[in-house]
Amino acid sequence: MFPSRIWRESKHRYRLEAGKCKKCGKIVFPYRLICPECGHREFENINLPDTGKLVTYTVIRVAPSQFTDQAPYAVGIAELANGVRLLAQIADCEIEKLKVGMDIRIEFRRIQTDGHHGVLSYGYKFVPKWY
Ligand SMILES: [Zn+2]
Repeated sequence: MFPSRIWRESKHRYRLEAGKCKKCGKIVFPYRLICPECGHREFENINLPDTGKLVTYTVIRVAPSQFTDQAPYAVGIAELANGVRLLAQIADCEIEKLKVGMDIRIEFRRIQTDGHHGVLSYGYKFVPKWY
């Protein structure tokens, strides 16, 4: 399979689709079958906002082997407009300029290349808004 084809097929999987509990309104992401808040099993599909604020971050200087070409890099937690928190790598960043509370947007990016098969895997990353 060609990487471009995997990318196309992965788009659906990586959409920021979450579930909102029809009983208590709790938003679950990633999607679950049972509401962790009230045990209800019916959810409404919602799309998460693609922007948020950086809540905390940490800088990885010694990376696991498949990420060594990317180190140092930062990983952070962002809170979206609806209160959902996500953990992701921060892309395109000058680590020294990162600040808690700064605005970020969520984009789909290459996460890593599997050297064995040349397969690219994608997922979401945070991109800081500098302006
Ligand atoms: Zn619930």
